[in-house]
Amino acid sequence: MPDGYDLVIIGTGAAGTSAATRAHHLGAGRMVMVEQGPLWGTCVNNGCIPSKFLLAVGEIHRYRNYGHAGLRVGSSLDMHEVIREKRDLILRLRERKARRIFGEFGIELMEGAARFLTPHTLDVGGRTLSARRFIIATGSSPLVPAVDGLSGVPFLTSLGALELEEVPESVIVLGGRSLGLEFAQILAHLGSQVTLLQRSPRIIPGEEPEISAAMEDALAGEGIAVHTGAELVRVRNEEAGAVSVTARVKGKGEKFAAARLLLATGRAPNTGELDLAACGVAVDRKGAIIVDDTMQTSAPHIWAAGDRRADARAPGRGRGCDRGRERDNREGEADRHEGPPPRDLHLPAGGLGGDDREQGKNLRNRGDVPVGIPRRDIPGAHDRRFPRPRENRRRGRDRDGARGPRLRPARRRDHRRGGACREARPHRA
Ligand SMILES: Cc1cc2nc3c(=O)[nH]c(=O)nc-3n(C[C@H](O)[C@H](O)[C@H](O)COP(=O)(O)OP(=O)(O)OC[C@H]3O[C@@H](n4cnc5c(N)ncnc54)[C@H](O)[C@@H]3O)c2cc1C
Repeated sequence: MPDGYDLVIIGTGAAGTSAATRAHHLGAGRMVMVEQGPLWGTCVNNGCIPSKFLLAVGEIHRYRNYGHAGLRVGSSLDMHEVIREKRDLILRLRERKARRIFGEFGIELMEGAARFLTPHTLDVGGRTLSARRFIIATGSSPLVPAVDGLSGVPFLTSLGALELEEVPESVIVLGGRSLGLEFAQILAHLGSQVTLLQRSPRIIPGEEPEISAAMEDALAGEGIAVHTGAELVRVRNEEAGAVSVTARVKGKGEKFAAARLLLATGRAPNTGELDLAACGVAVDRKGAIIVDDTMQTSAPHIWAAGDRRADARAPGRGRGCDRGRERDNREGEADRHEGPPPRDLHLPAGGLGGDDREQGKNLRNRGDVPVGIPRRDIPGAHDRRFPRPRENRRRGRDRDGARGPRLRPARRRDHRRGGACREARPHRA
């Protein structure tokens, strides 16, 4: 392929940029990244960064007095300004990354939607490019479930929820996994009355039951109404623009109403537009690309990374797929990846146990999974010096940022006891 590229990376999200960086350092040759949307994908534009930014704003807004009788600290909320600041932050990050990837590394960019024409050629918005190797890193998009009446009512997904310039008086959040919890907390902290409905018997069912219980307690303590075991029946428009959701909750019919409805019901891989049949890449029944342990697809010159892989249900979580399978068996429920692992949530009780964190770190070091965002990269998020309310603290589970450097577990020989012990030690993220 004399006039072709050595490597084409489709998608500039977390997976695409990790792959590009690694490939550059390995001397992969002439490279181009193809992107159809805003540069740098979900994490920067409508995922980790903006959601952590809003969590930080909401947390400061909610806990400004921190329950101390003698402390009076005021705050007023201007969501228009908050969203403007969020957009500025995203623009700054976009520029910073662009300088590195396209400037320092000299990787080329081709804008447009990629579609395979043959195993070695792509159509990108009417232009054809050829390459020896490809990495598909096209990510995922919010999944809209099939629920009676849903197509006739206005609803938000994570995309719209991160752009709200007015805080709704009340919100029903569908989905009690990572994204649902994150948005429930953002909106509650900003002043919405939040009701959260989760189909499985507990929230974040992929985690240990104790963590689900602690999270549920913490959310309830913040005034969020959490209903688990809620099987959706129908969704309807109500008067004055409100929306209602009828569900069978633990077998009993219940109707919930709110000003807005927010779906956090999973994500679907962005593979439909790629015409993967033209290059011989196999997908599973949900459209996720099937890969082996080395992330190679059924076509030997094509690899896949990030959210569109069949084993990428829980990026950032060490045992994501195993846990997904366990969960399928235990609860007869499809494993749905919704985005942020609890490791990255700012929930009061948030954080995984040491083994999970170690595993997540190992996978991140291997470059298999998107990298979490250090709080210091998000304005305001690292400045919280105040303690959390006593009832919301869980010993050893405040994972980072709240009071200083992030803690991570480390194994070290304990000479006094003559064995290995786990301890937390400061770690600069
Ligand atoms: C609200 C929210 C909060 C989150 N918080 C966290 C968190 O705290 N920590 C964490 O680890 N993860 C978090 N996640 C998940 C994380 O954002 C994703 O796992 C990660 O961004 C996925 O990266 P990716 O590269 O696979 O896909 P993406 O970042 O989605 O990138 C895919 C890119 O491919 C492009 N593309 C798609 N199809 C084509 C095509 N045919 N041609 C050209 N380009 C194409 C898209 O435009 C996009 O830019 C969050 C997600 C959401 C939604």
